[in-house]
Amino acid sequence: MNKVLVTGGTGYIGSHTVVKLLSAGMEVLVLDNLSNSSKEVVGRIEKLSGKSLQFFEGDIRDRALLRSIFERHSCNSVIHFAGLKAVGESEEQPLKYFDNNVAGSIVLFEEMIRARIHTLIFSSSATVYGDPGYACYQESTPLSPMNTYGRTKLMVEDILRDLKKANPEMQIALLRYFNPVGAHESGDIGEHPFGVPNNLMPFISQVAVGTREKLMIYGGDYSTPDGTGLRDYIHVEDLGAGHLAALHSLSENNSLITVNLGTGHPYSVLDMVHAFEKASGKKIPYEIIGRRPGDLPEYYADPALAKKVLGWEAKLGIDRMCADTWRWQQQNPQGYS
Ligand code: NAD
Ligand code: UDP
Repeated sequence: MNKVLVTGGTGYIGSHTVVKLLSAGMEVLVLDNLSNSSKEVVGRIEKLSGKSLQFFEGDIRDRALLRSIFERHSCNSVIHFAGLKAVGESEEQPLKYFDNNVAGSIVLFEEMIRARIHTLIFSSSATVYGDPGYACYQESTPLSPMNTYGRTKLMVEDILRDLKKANPEMQIALLRYFNPVGAHESGDIGEHPFGVPNNLMPFISQVAVGTREKLMIYGGDYSTPDGTGLRDYIHVEDLGAGHLAALHSLSENNSLITVNLGTGHPYSVLDMVHAFEKASGKKIPYEIIGRRPGDLPEYYADPALAKKVLGWEAKLGIDRMCADTWRWQQQNPQGYS
């Protein structure tokens, strides 16, 4: 049986993926230091999947813990979600990000190799592309991240490309996510950032539920159809399915695969506001203010390679993204606490 260690498995994308792994009959171990998630998630995952998992509260930088997990449990693959992801914080505290995301990943990979675990899926990001001068990103688009967070993702990708050369038996998938949104259809798991949300969708949903007064829209003067920024929002359930497809693909090909996980259909900030108003029946007050430094006007995935290599494509549209986010937000206005 496939036994998977999921780092960061109580986080937003990890929790949705773990439900899918358990539901597909896999055994799952989760390692998370709870720096950006809650232990409450474990019970919710078990309820949704009808299966139990083994949870280890700890850090990927804790070599002794990783070693004991790998010695006591015969895992055959790792899905590596654990990481810090706030772009602004990464600029203010770069060493914290290099230590957690890069040094932490090195400890994990060393212990995987020691335990002869050869299959790995890594959470990369569209931020590795930077600003190539056009909006539709293919996997061959030049890599040039514009912030520390993006550089940590590119560094880990580079490490894994070199690792694959030195260890041809490894099977590695680098999945570059675009903008994950949405929640499990039940409303039992979803995204609830600690503090003020940086990302658009959690901010909109907190305005809708009354926790925040109004949305600040960063820039209304871009050369886009309505002047606001365009992004490729992808439902977290589709992302979770992408990980299952990647595990399956790796089991058939002894290779390193790099794919975008996006829909290929960009939406503007105002499109998201209007879709959320429709899904929730709530008015979302907003104010258009200046552009956020470092933001690009528009980018989205070319999802063709993911379809070809993984046989995967996103299925859920903007209405489901908003309806599912709203159900989660309404049922859990304070998140998991
Ligand atoms: P998240 O913060 O909800 O989940 C990450 C989890 O990792 C959290 O539960 C956190 O407690 C845990 N964690 C962090 N550092 C750890 C460490 N050193 N040891 C053990 N656990 C640790 O974030 P998410 O949105 O689920 O993102 C998952 C992965 O996907 C991250 O690597 C992120 O960079 C990447 N990603 C996210 C997005 C996004 O917009 N959400 C986009 C592209 C890529
Ligand atoms: N955005 C916004 N107000 C917010 C948060 C985000 O107008 O409070 C905009 C942002 O400028 C971008 C889009 O929403 O055009 C998506 O931003 P997010 O931070 O969610 O993702 P990313 O910048 O990583 O693509």
